[in-house]
Amino acid sequence: RSFATPSFDSTNPRIPPYFKLLKNYEKVREVLGRGTALTLAEKILYSHLDNVEESLMTNTNGGRNIRGSANLKLKPDRVAMQDASAQMALLQFMTCNLPSTAIPASIHCDHLIVGEHGAKADLESGIKVNQEVFDFLESAAKKYGIEFWPPGAGIIHQSVLENYGAPGLMMLGTDSHTPNCGGLSTIAIGVGGADAVEALVGAPWELKAPRVLGVELKGQLSGWASPKDIILNLAGQLTVRGGTGFIVEYFGPGVESLSCTGMATVCNMGAEVGATTSIFPFSPAHVRYLEATHRHDVAAEAKKFSDIVKLRADDGAKYDEVITIDLSSLEPHINGPFTPDLSTPLSQFKETVQEQKWPEKLSAGLIGSCTNSSYEDMTRVESMVREALEAGLKPSSDFYITPGSDQIRETLARDGPLETFKEAGGTVLSNACGPCIGQWKRQDGVEKGTPNAILTSYNRNFRGRNDGNPDTMNFLASPEIVTAMSFAGSTTFNPVTDTIPTPSGKEFRFSPPSGFEIPAKPFEAARPEFQAVIQPADASVNIAISPKSERLALLEPFEPFPNSDLSGLRVLVKITGKCTTDTISAAGPWLKYKGHLPNISTNTLNTATNAETGEVNAAYDLDGSKHTIPELGQRWKEAQQPWLVVAEHNYGEGSAREHAALQPRYLGARIVLCKSFARIHETNLKKQGVVPLTFANEADYDKIGASDEVATEGLYDMLRNGGKGEVSLRVKKHKSGEEVVIKTKHAISEDQAQFILAGSALNLLSKTASV
Ligand code: SF4
Repeated sequence: RSFATPSFDSTNPRIPPYFKLLKNYEKVREVLGRGTALTLAEKILYSHLDNVEESLMTNTNGGRNIRGSANLKLKPDRVAMQDASAQMALLQFMTCNLPSTAIPASIHCDHLIVGEHGAKADLESGIKVNQEVFDFLESAAKKYGIEFWPPGAGIIHQSVLENYGAPGLMMLGTDSHTPNCGGLSTIAIGVGGADAVEALVGAPWELKAPRVLGVELKGQLSGWASPKDIILNLAGQLTVRGGTGFIVEYFGPGVESLSCTGMATVCNMGAEVGATTSIFPFSPAHVRYLEATHRHDVAAEAKKFSDIVKLRADDGAKYDEVITIDLSSLEPHINGPFTPDLSTPLSQFKETVQEQKWPEKLSAGLIGSCTNSSYEDMTRVESMVREALEAGLKPSSDFYITPGSDQIRETLARDGPLETFKEAGGTVLSNACGPCIGQWKRQDGVEKGTPNAILTSYNRNFRGRNDGNPDTMNFLASPEIVTAMSFAGSTTFNPVTDTIPTPSGKEFRFSPPSGFEIPAKPFEAARPEFQAVIQPADASVNIAISPKSERLALLEPFEPFPNSDLSGLRVLVKITGKCTTDTISAAGPWLKYKGHLPNISTNTLNTATNAETGEVNAAYDLDGSKHTIPELGQRWKEAQQPWLVVAEHNYGEGSAREHAALQPRYLGARIVLCKSFARIHETNLKKQGVVPLTFANEADYDKIGASDEVATEGLYDMLRNGGKGEVSLRVKKHKSGEEVVIKTKHAISEDQAQFILAGSALNLLSKTASV
């Protein structure tokens, strides 16, 4: 049976290509058998396959065992890029010499604005300092027909949710919190710039078919519990690695009680458990949100599409694992410090703070960001702030508010919350990332090295993440809990049970927060200067990059893999403990060099801990001389000494930052050998021509050390055989000359083997794209 296909609007770029997706979905059903029950994630993912038959039949056991085994070749509908990662993505895209992008794309200027005094002043100085980069991005957008969101327009994920997200859509974003849009029933995946370029040139993008982790939501949130607490709780259960290789799919009666933006918060922070992405089924809340954001047309078409495809899991669909959360008994959680999976229920937090001797004074509370600046979040917070103001109270800690976009900012200004926050002494920052990505000049005199506690409604809290101070203990919570504790000025305050003394001598207790899912009137439009610039590609636009620039540099292709195994490699450094993408390529002040590979490479691994000496950012040359890790990398690059890094678990966890792969490659890395990888980073390494290997036997980590000489055995053959075959490393100990052989494992697909042989994915792509 063929579907009776209704007509879909194919002229509006904001509406997913539903007609095409439906035809593909029909083929999926034919190949898999009509009785096969699918999860929602599978429905959307498979309807974006480049070649359904090839992917689902030949790749797997006749259409079965797809999850965890098939390499899906997907055609995403759209790409979004933030300003820090867009620079390298566009520099790579430029080398392909195409007149325009093959699919719609957008650039969002959000990461480079420092939070300091408040929106107006910060934006002015941010634009001044980063003018060269913004000009580059704008000119590239004009040349290739990419939608350009200027500085101050909003944070990528909020703007995408408000403008591009749509049920059934599949998109890539050059940022790890791209899954935010799963809150609108979109498959949205965070990738590196090289992946984005594949989609931008119209090539299929490859993904190992994820397994699906079902999260059943029962009951209904009430009182102080909020959607943020669902993911704070889940992060505690799963840990930062528990979602690796999975799409997290929510289902169950509790879904119906959540707002679209609440679902987005949950999906946003799914990045913290390492999931490929997260998604919610299509619900009436999506229609309400689409209509409130002026997208009646998208809502109507999505309903038609869902009537046929059913944008939810089929009855009987099997999840690889299921976790159940009862919303009715869920209490607020606070996660941290230094890792998003250290989760403590509010009722136990005071005791934990005291036991752990964490600071009891709260220095600052920060709410908003791409994670938690929805109308619902902000009106719930306003209800609390208004009540506290009426009791004569003001926040005892510094209190910052980051709106996610100018649309939400203008709506909050129109409806009152923004004024209420200012009346309470809050500082409203620009619609940009600011303190969430280390772009925060604190005004409270807390110096680097001073232990202190801050609470944010953001999503990530690695050491030093917010203010560059490794002694700032950063805790994550809902905006409501952040606000309550900011008024108390204390990390031991529990708004459910505790009171705050007022100036009149009475005791004040917060009522449970209450707010509005969406505004009574549709969202206010962004101010004209903060709206997207949309125009067709214009070949006459010149993208000027000064050869003297310290911020931007054209890319040179990496050399191809030699026609043999690798030999004569040396271990640059053996790392112990967490090695996140922040460790490999720090953000904060380094963000300004994102478009200049030689300059940003001077931060490579500069917060990694040397396993042999316990020192941070220390490495030793073969003659025993001590250097910083990037200095030694540079020395070895100049000496044409190829190298590898040895590390422990979840190497490259954290973000989609492709610089964490590009920089080592630029400095001469050929291999990263570790106990396990974070998914996005492992892919990024392969795309840049670095071979990611894991120990077949973890204990072999102890058999290899800094300066040891390494030769590969079987690597070249494995690459030539499309990723099939085993690879061992013959290690000659630097000091004793003794030799050991270390067996390794790898996850290199046929296509990825081609990337590595070509020197990088881009080397391969630029050949095919320009044909
Ligand atoms: Fe920006 Fe932070 Fe959101 Fe990343 S997580 S997009 S840095 S606000």
